Amino acid sequence: MATYFRRVIIGTVAIGSGVYVVSSLTNDEKPWAQVHAASQCRPKRPLPSRDEQIASLQKEKFDILIIGGGATGAGCALDAATRGLKTALVEADDFASGTSSRSTKLIHGGVRYLQKAIMQADVEQYRMVKEALRERANMLESAPHLTRPLPIMLPVYTWWQVPYYWVGIKMYDIVAGSKTVRNSYLLSKRRALELFPMLKGEKLRGAIVYYDGQQDDARMNLAVALTATRYGATIANHVQVLSLHHKTENGKRIVAGARVRDEMTGKVFDVCAKCVINATGPFTDSIRKMDDVKVKEICSPSSGVHIVLPGYYSPDQMGLLDPQTSDGRVIFFLPWQKHTIAGTTDMPCELTHNPKPTEEEILFILAEIKHYLNCDVEVRRGDVLSAWSGIRPLVSDPNKADTQSLARNHIVHVSDSKLVTIAGGKWTTYREMAEQTIDAAIEACQLKPVQNTSQTWGLQVEGAHGWTPTMYIRLVQDFGLESEVAQNLANAYGDRAFSVAKLAQLTGKRWPIIGCKLHPEYPYIDAEVRYACQKEYARTAIDVIARRLRLAFLNSEAAQEALPGIVDIMAEELNWNEEEKKKQISLASVFLQEEMGHKMNKVSREKLPINLSADEVQTYIKRFQIIDKEKKGYISINDIRRSLKHSGDEVSGEQIHEILKEIDTNMNGQVELDEYLQMMSAIKSGHVAYSRFARMAEMEEAHYEKIKKKITVERSGGGL
Ligand SMILES: Cc1cc2nc3c(=O)[nH]c(=O)nc-3n(C[C@H](O)[C@H](O)[C@H](O)COP(=O)(O)OP(=O)(O)OC[C@H]3O[C@@H](n4cnc5c(N)ncnc54)[C@H](O)[C@@H]3O)c2cc1C
Repeated sequence: MATYFRRVIIGTVAIGSGVYVVSSLTNDEKPWAQVHAASQCRPKRPLPSRDEQIASLQKEKFDILIIGGGATGAGCALDAATRGLKTALVEADDFASGTSSRSTKLIHGGVRYLQKAIMQADVEQYRMVKEALRERANMLESAPHLTRPLPIMLPVYTWWQVPYYWVGIKMYDIVAGSKTVRNSYLLSKRRALELFPMLKGEKLRGAIVYYDGQQDDARMNLAVALTATRYGATIANHVQVLSLHHKTENGKRIVAGARVRDEMTGKVFDVCAKCVINATGPFTDSIRKMDDVKVKEICSPSSGVHIVLPGYYSPDQMGLLDPQTSDGRVIFFLPWQKHTIAGTTDMPCELTHNPKPTEEEILFILAEIKHYLNCDVEVRRGDVLSAWSGIRPLVSDPNKADTQSLARNHIVHVSDSKLVTIAGGKWTTYREMAEQTIDAAIEACQLKPVQNTSQTWGLQVEGAHGWTPTMYIRLVQDFGLESEVAQNLANAYGDRAFSVAKLAQLTGKRWPIIGCKLHPEYPYIDAEVRYACQKEYARTAIDVIARRLRLAFLNSEAAQEALPGIVDIMAEELNWNEEEKKKQISLASVFLQEEMGHKMNKVSREKLPINLSADEVQTYIKRFQIIDKEKKGYISINDIRRSLKHSGDEVSGEQIHEILKEIDTNMNGQVELDEYLQMMSAIKSGHVAYSRFARMAEMEEAHYEKIKKKITVERSGGGL
């Protein structure tokens, strides 16, 4: 054992020194001082309306047309526009509606990839990590409001892992060089449990903490797209490419634009461009086939599911990652927007615009995280507030002869007809991917940019210019906003938060003066919906609940509850009639049910066998009969209203319907005994965390017992 331990230390130190030398020799860091002065100035161009963007798409001739408004496409639009190229971008659904809003939200180099690079002496892999670490620094710098450094703990369970992990993580710092977020450090078991109190203490030897970045991916995507349009790009969401146009140049067939459909109006029109870029993530092959029907497919889609749990599953300022579980997988839970994200899975999947998490994937993640938490945290199915699936665009490289093996990094490919495809990669490297793509486009299509080189290194995105970590205090003091609401506005919109606050309604209360909440448990307010429609191109209720606000991703139930209020505000902004409002609510409800895991929870509850003891069944039958005074055999809305009155609660009609909805699985507007027993059984097994109906039934029984006692005393008193 001692010899083994010595070898581990000698090995890790030797590798560490090697990396230090390689890192020094390959140091090609871009200093911040080189950042173009213009990148720190706020671009003056006002945001055109969506109608103006559509008109511009139809009448102008562009240098570049980008297909896809995810991180990659938006990054390309920003790179091209800041070089002075006439740029257009069309997105079939909404900005970030694909993989780019469904990521783990980490801005990272990849600790695991570094481990592989070192263990397998793989220079290509090492370069990938180094590049990503450099881009990590750029993202944190260019959007400080939407990103933050996040400490992540690696728990260590055997002594020999301590030097192994520590040296590995130190290398991560060294490879990042001056762009390191913060230095990593070693923790004793006691300190580890102080910082991550819900961690299981048994067998824990200590921990190592390293830093990566974290972001709000959908809002970052939007910020990049909005910045591109501030620099002159024409961008339009809900515009789908139907086919590509080709022309003949010097006897060769060359891509010259695309036929598109505005999904909001159904209008089909052509967009002309000297160069077309395919940035459609997992859908890359669909566009490649529009260029050449016979082309070989390069994308192997793989789905990754995340679940969202309440904030108490992790400390607010510390994530946890096990890079090597016993069966070789990564498991993590990370704090995000006062909740905890846990994940993930990696399964080959069908390509779809609407990936859905499955119950098996959700249960798999829950089972994994159980290993790490102490007995005070009972890991329950009912705690899953939301679950989503994202599709990884894993691609093989068409530039290489061996097209079977997957590319480790992104690929940029120019077809014979000059369609430029950018595919693969990761969120963290979107800027660099865009730089390489626009370089390739300029060369392939002989474009004449004002600036030959990329201008995006250090370029601040929408909202970043006047942002400071304490800016939210001005929002509280100048506008009379609640502190939590102001913090949320400052982090989501940066210095544009003041424009959002100006749209907020008076609350009519002494405090806060403005900002009516869309849901009592979340800091989102009315003004954000108006701003989303006026300035951020939100056109559907899903655009708002999922990507302008992140409510659908955080809590699908709360999103469902907030939906009618959000649709009312959108109707005022976008002139929707009653029919359109109904349609939007219905589409958004299906999205929450199918894509945010809302339905899964209900279905899995229905499948549960009733696991109550005979005594428990008796107790619940008694409670049921107390509420069902008229012995109808079911509990009606009126019964619920009466019971709530007994407990002295002021509850609105809408809230009573919400309480009923929780339990009424067959949706017939009443509660049957089997539904009640099913709910109590689900609570017992942890499938359901909490039920307002169950609590109400318990209180109604207490009320009934009190009355019964009172009657007995009065009667006996009268008798004496
Ligand atoms: C589970 C998971 C976790 C991840 N976590 C991280 C992480 O923590 N950090 C990290 O750096 N990376 C992460 N990634 C990777 C990262 O999210 C992706 O690499 C990135 O989001 C891909 O962006 P994209 O723009 O290429 O694709 P997408 O975001 O999918 O965008 C492609 C867009 O093209 C549009 N489109 C398709 N067809 C058409 C058409 N015909 N006309 C117009 N538009 C069209 C789609 O609607 C879509 O919006 C993760 C990926 C997954 C799956």
